[in-house]
Amino acid sequence: DEYVGRTFDRIRRVEEKVRAFVTLRDEKDVLEEVKKAVKGEGRLSGLLIAVKDNISTRGIRTTCSSKMLENYVPPYDATVISKLKREGAVILGKTNMDEFAMGSTTETSYFGPTRNPWDLSRTPGGSSGGSGSALASGYVDVALGSDTGGSIRTPASFTSTYGLKPSYGTVSRYGLVAYANSLEQIGPMARNSTDLALLFSIIAGSDQRDATTIDYSSPSSINPITVKGIKVGVLKDVMEASDPGVVGVVKDFLNKMSSEGAVIEETNLGMVNYVLPTYYIIAMSEASSNLARYDGVRYGYSSNAEGNWRDVYSRNRGEGFGKEVKRRILLGSFILSAGYYEQFYIRALKTRRLIRDSLEKLFSRYDILVSPTSPILPPKIGEVIDDPVKMYAIDVATVTANLAAIPALSIPAGFHNGLPVGVQLMGRYLSDTFLMGVSLYME
Ligand code: GLN
Repeated sequence: DEYVGRTFDRIRRVEEKVRAFVTLRDEKDVLEEVKKAVKGEGRLSGLLIAVKDNISTRGIRTTCSSKMLENYVPPYDATVISKLKREGAVILGKTNMDEFAMGSTTETSYFGPTRNPWDLSRTPGGSSGGSGSALASGYVDVALGSDTGGSIRTPASFTSTYGLKPSYGTVSRYGLVAYANSLEQIGPMARNSTDLALLFSIIAGSDQRDATTIDYSSPSSINPITVKGIKVGVLKDVMEASDPGVVGVVKDFLNKMSSEGAVIEETNLGMVNYVLPTYYIIAMSEASSNLARYDGVRYGYSSNAEGNWRDVYSRNRGEGFGKEVKRRILLGSFILSAGYYEQFYIRALKTRRLIRDSLEKLFSRYDILVSPTSPILPPKIGEVIDDPVKMYAIDVATVTANLAAIPALSIPAGFHNGLPVGVQLMGRYLSDTFLMGVSLYME
């Protein structure tokens, strides 16, 4: 009783200002479920969890923060949700996000922006900004996000929380509304590394319903790993693209690592000017294909337009999608059209391969690659949203891990001018538990 009551009291006090949720569940329903769950044996029995609103939840609407899916209630649970329920977790609500996860600040949401609890005039990052703010507001200890190019790590960084983009294929995407399949993973977000590791070990694992999952099972407990003797490569070219205030905090963190015995060396990512164009070409191409399914006929927003197929389809889509989503559908369709396909899409795939190769080389020398998670401090609401290129630039440090399928973890490194700064650790493919072990040690 007390736990649920306290949570809802807190929400009543601050949610009006923060707006982390798209859908908050009814207190009575939550209390009933928690009472039932605490009697069970699950590893999360009775624990409240916030879930990003692009992860399907049976009986709870799943909107992707889009007008297109405003009233869509899925008839099934995503695999990660089934797994969490089996362990006794109870969903508190669905969190706000950029529309269809397209954005870095949670400002492209149809329901309006979420605010950063550390400074209400600023964004919590995106696209899983609602989950980040729900954690930082103290509503929950654990939350789910999804990360296509930084959507877990950027909000973790901006809200001083922990977020992992898992190795591609370790977590099922069944029930995740698709944006860019080859890049994205569902992942854990939490207020400390112990909870983060626990959440990851529950959601990870192969799934018959997602053919891209690999044969993987995560150890049930993840232990601290001493950083003594581990080789850390600092990505100088990413540091140089970042604000001095951010860099200062990351350097303090590196000093801490070095005083614990880590071997720190400067290196370069090498293709830092190519990662964003490569990522956005691939992401927009996949998005334009994935979003073709929203015709507003069987489900989703309907304009009730009459006329031929073309009129109905274009009115449903024209009214149902927001500006950023339309931008990406248009650019993606353009990139994939005859004549431009080779010039853009095929080239981006080749560059993606080169980026993977160059990372592989770096990982023959280093155990971990470190950089800021975000090159800037949390921007003010409205500061980057009207300039897409400015918004895309926030992802300069994060998209690399998605292109290369490797794990990347954002952990709080400290504050600059009262604003949170996250540090990103990237590791070899399938070194997820190693990264979390290091994070446990450094906490
Ligand atoms: N900001 C990036 C994009 O808009 C990443 C978003 C995400 O990871 N879902 O594509």
